[in-house]
Amino acid sequence: MPNKLHVRKGDRVLILSGKDKGRKSRVITAFPRKNKVLVEGVNMVKKHARPTQKVPQGGIRETEAPIYASKVMVICPSCQKPTRLARRELSDGKMARACKKCGELIGK
Ligand SMILES: [Zn+2]
Repeated sequence: MPNKLHVRKGDRVLILSGKDKGRKSRVITAFPRKNKVLVEGVNMVKKHARPTQKVPQGGIRETEAPIYASKVMVICPSCQKPTRLARRELSDGKMARACKKCGELIGK
């Protein structure tokens, strides 16, 4: 069973370490098995592309590389603060994430 990450696709996050420390951005993809997330504009790396039919000249293009999920903190959409998350059981028995600062539920 894959690990469940505290972050999900579409979350706004604060970057806690690395060259993009302090930056706020959005999660593009989460990789629960790897404990990593891909965050828009964060940890850009240069990829050397071979010439293809689409891009005959090949060359270098920049793309995001995944970073460890532990290096990001979710920004609460309600209070706009970076926060740790609480787990909350809903009336239908499902678990939801909640902001530890304002108590509002995060995501669906
Ligand atoms: Zn909050």
